[in-house]
Amino acid sequence: MQLTHKIALRPTPEQVDYFERACDAARRVWNWALNEWNRQYAAGGKPNAMALKKQFNAIKYTDPQWLDENGRPWLQDIHRDAHAQPFRNLAKAWERFFADLKEGKKAHKPRFKKKGRCRDSFYVANDKFTLNGKTIRLPRIGEVAMTEELRFAGKILGATVSRTADRWFVAIQVEVPDAQFYQCRTSHGVNGVDLGIKAVATISSGEVIEAPKPLKAALRRLKIRSRRLSRKLEAAKKAAGFERRARLPKGTRLPVSNNRRKSAAALARLHARIANIRADFTHKLTTRLCRENQALVIEDLNVKGMLENEKLARAISDVGFGMLRSQLEYKARRYGTHLIIADRWYPSSRLCSICGWKNEALTLRDQKWVCAQCGAHHDRDLNAALNLKRLATETALPVASPTSNGGAASGTLPAVVGKVTPVRYDDGQQDTSGQEENRAHLCALS
Ligand SMILES: [Zn+2]
Repeated sequence: MQLTHKIALRPTPEQVDYFERACDAARRVWNWALNEWNRQYAAGGKPNAMALKKQFNAIKYTDPQWLDENGRPWLQDIHRDAHAQPFRNLAKAWERFFADLKEGKKAHKPRFKKKGRCRDSFYVANDKFTLNGKTIRLPRIGEVAMTEELRFAGKILGATVSRTADRWFVAIQVEVPDAQFYQCRTSHGVNGVDLGIKAVATISSGEVIEAPKPLKAALRRLKIRSRRLSRKLEAAKKAAGFERRARLPKGTRLPVSNNRRKSAAALARLHARIANIRADFTHKLTTRLCRENQALVIEDLNVKGMLENEKLARAISDVGFGMLRSQLEYKARRYGTHLIIADRWYPSSRLCSICGWKNEALTLRDQKWVCAQCGAHHDRDLNAALNLKRLATETALPVASPTSNGGAASGTLPAVVGKVTPVRYDDGQQDTSGQEENRAHLCALS
């Protein structure tokens, strides 16, 4: 089993300078490889990563494109892992593209990386670095201080150095033994979780989880800092003789003032802070949910579709539903929690969780409603969470199939239960009962 530990670094200014150059090399090699790939493909060839790498190795110290202003091959100063890895990454990106295409998912072709817009990172192979407590020895630059020790014991597979705003991190991939990968649960509940906008999560146990408060304050500050930066950009445009709010012709480079650079850095730091607040919140929530439940049911939120709805978009991206879902998926594996994703069409909000009557008239605004059949008073989110929970138990309510138009009002139609999709595990290991503790042998049974 593989785990990755991402650790913040405390590099010296010289080390930062090397990191920046290595990221630059990785980015430029990626762009070269992608361009060459596209060119060969358009010419009817069948490009592959290994051949491209060979082709690149033949020119990287001689081609004028890869020499600095003094005619020196600057790539020689960067450790070779940084400029070899982009070829593997590119091959993987194409593989993913074709796999998505085959599965009928929305596929994205690999794209060129733009300086300042892409994620800055480079790779170091496992035999090229060593760890010693809170230091990591990297090729070319020696020992770099880390903020903490590597938490996992096992075979080290590789490391990626990356930058977020003005901080540097190393993510170390480790192959850990099963006993370390699988974790013990503290309790074995069965719960449905309704993800929403008013409250981030409503658990069928009745608990309501709100978004973290610092997030709201930071988002307000984000508006202010974005405005400050855009004013400086407008000023730079004006000084260069462009109209206000004019679209610049492609390739235009405006002079960057010191104040604009500082302002951009402050904005980037704030973005990173917001991402940290979000990640901290979702990590704590998802760990808790998986640790305390043997079965969890969530909705298959169509995040992309929802983001197209502008009003919802803000609230949704604020809490990061996509992140929440993917964290639940991998943590469910570690805790042996059975994660059930309800079908997108399962009307969890509309069904009465007591008698199964379907409220066709329910709108997004209705926070509370009363069942016309049994008279139960419902809180929208809690009712949805209860309906989701029922998908994990034997008592799921009958639901008309999404293709039939309404008519489920009486609940007497043939019982077509909302489709339940157990999360698929890579190793093919699947637990279909949703109730069994399948990792009991690894945990000390208390
Ligand atoms: Zn009812």
